[in-house]
Amino acid sequence: MRVYCRECGSKALITEEEKMSSVFSKLYCQCTNARACGHSFVAHINFSHTLKPSAVKPNNSLLVRLCELPRDQQLQMFEQLDVSK
Ligand SMILES: [Zn+2]
Repeated sequence: MRVYCRECGSKALITEEEKMSSVFSKLYCQCTNARACGHSFVAHINFSHTLKPSAVKPNNSLLVRLCELPRDQQLQMFEQLDVSK
């Protein structure tokens, strides 16, 4: 992602990202034209909407991780869940 300084049009460096939620972050930016401009600012970035749904669903990723576990750990998890009751 590229951020530009609105004062001089130079590229800006993102020095820090403050994640406010899963869909909203504040980007702390510093203009790279330090000598002539020196502008530092905050830009907001937020999720807008989905164009194509992700193939990864939370349940799928959990299932994938479960399948990657060694057999004995899988059995141990099922024993702890006690699925027979
Ligand atoms: Zn600038």
